[in-house]
Amino acid sequence: MSIPGPWKQVKKTTDELKMLGIRLDIILMQVLKSGNNSLFWLNYWIGNEILSIKFPILFGLEREKGCTLADSLIMVNGEICSTWGWLRTPCSGPEMVELRELLQLCQNVVLEDGNDKVGWDLDDLGDCPACGEADETTGHVFVSCSLAQAVWQAVSTWCMVPHIFAFSIRDILELYKFIKGSKRQAKFFHAVYLVSVWCLWKARNDIVFNGMAVTAEIVVGNIKALGYLWVKNRSGGSSCLGRIGVSLRYS
Ligand SMILES: [Zn+2]
Repeated sequence: MSIPGPWKQVKKTTDELKMLGIRLDIILMQVLKSGNNSLFWLNYWIGNEILSIKFPILFGLEREKGCTLADSLIMVNGEICSTWGWLRTPCSGPEMVELRELLQLCQNVVLEDGNDKVGWDLDDLGDCPACGEADETTGHVFVSCSLAQAVWQAVSTWCMVPHIFAFSIRDILELYKFIKGSKRQAKFFHAVYLVSVWCLWKARNDIVFNGMAVTAEIVVGNIKALGYLWVKNRSGGSSCLGRIGVSLRYS
């Protein structure tokens, strides 16, 4: 069963980045509240895979690929119940195997009032390891930290797109929707933004765990290297940036 349009693209980008060792599940986990702004199949919210990858047959049967958790699961008398909308009822052996595993995975989910957010949810936040000037929230590390700001500025210059204005990591993940250009270009920029988030995360770990001095230049160098690798891997050649219709600065 085929997966229509944009959802196939999102899933494919995540798969491709995973092949380069980029594990966005580690940093982009949704911290659940009501499930209203987490996508059931396409965000990381449980386990270490997005569910469209873990359960590909069921995802093919899902009528609304972009449904939220709140669309898919409801609390009834303190118990979680599923409200999936299938194109047809799962019935074959492999479908039932996936369905049983999915039900098991979801049985302990608890939904409550409030908005979900992306990233870690630590009670005891330390100072940001890069600047030491604020709490180490995802919003700070990936968006407002001076290191992150310098990186986003350089990424915009490299991609020759207007400067990125974001207030949260969610804004950054949705930036590609505002790129004026073809679907291929939007997909490329989406991948670059995801790679950038990953490299900022790696930089944070290098500072904390390896005692390294990390500069924006180093982070941007890593982003460019991984960005080129992603393009090369998916098209099998270096001339493909032209085919995507993206020009990048060389410096
Ligand atoms: Zn900082």
